[in-house]
Amino acid sequence: MRIWDILCPPTCVHCGNDVYTQGEWCTDCFQKVLHERRIEGSRYSSLECIYILADYIGGIKTMLHDIKFNGKKERALGAAPFLQRFTITCSDIHYTPDIVVPIPISESKRQIRGYNQVDLLFKNWVIQQQWCWEDILIKLDGSKPMWTLTKEERKQNMKGHFLVSISKVKSLVAVPGEILIVDDIYTTGATLVEAADTLKNYFPRANIKALTLASGA
Ligand SMILES: [Zn+2]
Repeated sequence: MRIWDILCPPTCVHCGNDVYTQGEWCTDCFQKVLHERRIEGSRYSSLECIYILADYIGGIKTMLHDIKFNGKKERALGAAPFLQRFTITCSDIHYTPDIVVPIPISESKRQIRGYNQVDLLFKNWVIQQQWCWEDILIKLDGSKPMWTLTKEERKQNMKGHFLVSISKVKSLVAVPGEILIVDDIYTTGATLVEAADTLKNYFPRANIKALTLASGA
């Protein structure tokens, strides 16, 4: 045991009960929210399915709220045990995405928050899996000046809330066949479907799946 752990014993990220290492969940709090499942995408959308790891209640709810609205970036470490579960699932079903695409936040939100919580939750884990993290989607909210966009991007800008960054797509080493979109919370699925449809325009042959940490649905 380190001296710091004696002076300041590690406690559960949610309830404050004793745990072995800092940033860990106690078994009770973890089991209460853990709910790994797969939802099939609609026949008419580009999204094949959505993997969800937890319910948006208890410790997950406070964790995501703290990350998004209280600036507590370090709480994103709490996603680790859920993602470890998904690592096992991927190995069981022999699933390896060619690229992982985070759902972006708009430029104005990034200026206020300073970061995208989706990056904090998933990026390190994705790199550990030796998968390619490619933030090729841009979220529009009118804050991105039209003059900064190419002609093609402007056309997309009129159509929907997301657009694909042409320069980033051009720098991809290969055309992806398996794309995994990641986001923090699933509610109606509309965001994920829109992101999948946007990506499908560029990669018509790709299989597109999604992964979210929690579901509030
Ligand atoms: Zn607890």
